[in-house]
Amino acid sequence: MIKYNLICKCGNTFESWFSSSSEFDFLCKKKLMKCIYCESSAVKKTVMAPNLYSKSNKVFKKTKLEKKIKKQLLDFRKYIEKNCKNVGENFTREARSIHYDKTTSQSIYGKATAEETAELLEEGIEVTTIPWVDKSEN
Ligand SMILES: [Zn+2]
Repeated sequence: MIKYNLICKCGNTFESWFSSSSEFDFLCKKKLMKCIYCESSAVKKTVMAPNLYSKSNKVFKKTKLEKKIKKQLLDFRKYIEKNCKNVGENFTREARSIHYDKTTSQSIYGKATAEETAELLEEGIEVTTIPWVDKSEN
């Protein structure tokens, strides 16, 4: 369904729903599209953008889902920040020292390149790459 804002030569504007833009064109051609005020068929679409009604509502759902995922990732980030120590750029070194030091069971987080991460995994050090969402966005 498409809603058009229509304007008549008499100056009045009104809204009307059509199943498609071709339905509107058809009604105009047949002079069946009449002004609700003066019954003239000199009715045109105004330049105003039509509202679009989509049955699937795909676009809307996607946005909602993205927001939901983002919120979960943000919660996850908050959890990590609260429970783990930020070692920043020293992540690779710190991860190694914790792994080989049996007395420590600390959890850390920080930055590592893909190669560094691969090296750690090869050594049997369990590291996980997580999507780090930016808090400032939205
Ligand atoms: Zn009119």
